[in-house]
Amino acid sequence: MNEKTLNANKLFANKSIECSVENCAYHCTGDKYCALDKITVAPNTPNPKEVAQTDCYNFRAVN
Ligand code: SF4
Repeated sequence: MNEKTLNANKLFANKSIECSVENCAYHCTGDKYCALDKITVAPNTPNPKEVAQTDCYNFRAVN
């Protein structure tokens, strides 16, 4: 799926990916879910121990 298609599906709410990052370009418009079919979550530090040490790697800030 390319980026244009992802942006076109912002009304889609993936009920398997709850998300509150409303300033992400892939956040569902008007709902608390991601609009992508799937996401990648990965550590942002070599040995994560807290939530803050993991990231959604699909995040893209709204312009
Ligand atoms: S791509 Fe990640 S940060 Fe963006 S709406 Fe989806 S789950 Fe949230």
